[in-house]
Amino acid sequence: MGKIISICNQKGGVGKTTTCVNLSAAFGVLEKKVLIIDTDPQANASISFGFGADQLNNPALQYMDFSSVIKNNIIKTKAPNVYLFPFFEDLNFFEKPSVVSKFQNALHKIKHPYDYILIDCVPFFKAKNLEILATSDAVLIPVQCDYYALEGLHKFLNTVRFVQKKMNRDLQIEGFLLTMYDKRLNFSNKVVDYVRSHFKTLVFNTLIERNSKITQAPSFGQSVIEFDATCIGAQCYLQLASEILEKNKDLEFDEENFLNTEIETTFNTKKFSRVTSEENQGDVLYDKILDGFKDSYESTSFSFFNNFDDLIDLRKKTVENIMGPCYKDHSGNTWVYKINKLNPFKKKYLHVHFDNKKVTHYTKKWFSS
Ligand code: ADP
Ligand code: MG
Repeated sequence: MGKIISICNQKGGVGKTTTCVNLSAAFGVLEKKVLIIDTDPQANASISFGFGADQLNNPALQYMDFSSVIKNNIIKTKAPNVYLFPFFEDLNFFEKPSVVSKFQNALHKIKHPYDYILIDCVPFFKAKNLEILATSDAVLIPVQCDYYALEGLHKFLNTVRFVQKKMNRDLQIEGFLLTMYDKRLNFSNKVVDYVRSHFKTLVFNTLIERNSKITQAPSFGQSVIEFDATCIGAQCYLQLASEILEKNKDLEFDEENFLNTEIETTFNTKKFSRVTSEENQGDVLYDKILDGFKDSYESTSFSFFNNFDDLIDLRKKTVENIMGPCYKDHSGNTWVYKINKLNPFKKKYLHVHFDNKKVTHYTKKWFSS
């Protein structure tokens, strides 16, 4: 399946690399095959597994097929089922506009043998991270339980929304991960309360506790799980891996079969009345969808969007403008859309039914993982 999860937050020192390394190792122990892509020139993820940044001094690599270069330079780490593409100084994925989509192409070509591909991002927001988010299926956002934790977080979320709107409509939020939690510290508990009350179900239940073994493990070229599987740090990352696997159970679901089975039906006859000119409806509705999504971050409710009623009576072209190309077209009269960003933990399908090229009704199938 090859789900690509970038581990990203524009703040440095929040536990991105630590999470990338130890979550991979935990996935590996749970028999999932994982590839880490190290995109940070400091190569901390690579170093944590006992490797450095790779430098071949071969500028010609820029002109080669990146997916072959990646494939030929993937290293098997000592951690079971964990593979690494170390930071590769000769391979400039991101900086030049002409090679910007090479990263995307390359990852999509090589992802299939793996269950998860985790991308360790650089701190501070750069064009590089935009490209990484555009390529990812989901973003995992570590939030350090310290005094300055929330600094910049909203700005980062705006960037995620920008990517969702302009570059990658399917980008999910895998979850906010509270890291370096210390229950004895008042502000640590305050950050947990704030993040949970604000982002609700988007926050992982698992808290990564502050643990000295986590800090020591990289100097032995090991994940914390190999270093000391019994310590609290290892337990936290194993728990996180289980939580993510549980949430992604439906990725192993056979979508073809699902789409051919009976689905619950909701008929809607409500007419679209808010916008009169159909030409304008695309943009207005799309903004409305995104506004709803915005509210879902910032208000108390995550179940904001039941407004597909507004699609009734719209023409195919307008529906396409609003919703983008459909995921599947059944005999021209039923279009299927994956609606997964409304609640990133659930995959949802919307079937839009047409008659005489206009929407007559829709049906929706929401299923939790
Ligand atoms: P980032 O990649 O976001 O810059 P790192 O993963 O490198 O952050 O973590 C920053 C520092 O915090 C590192 O020294 C790391 O060992 C330490 N650290 C991260 N998570 C924990 C933890 N749960 N307990 C103790 N130290 C941690
Ligand atoms: Mg890092």
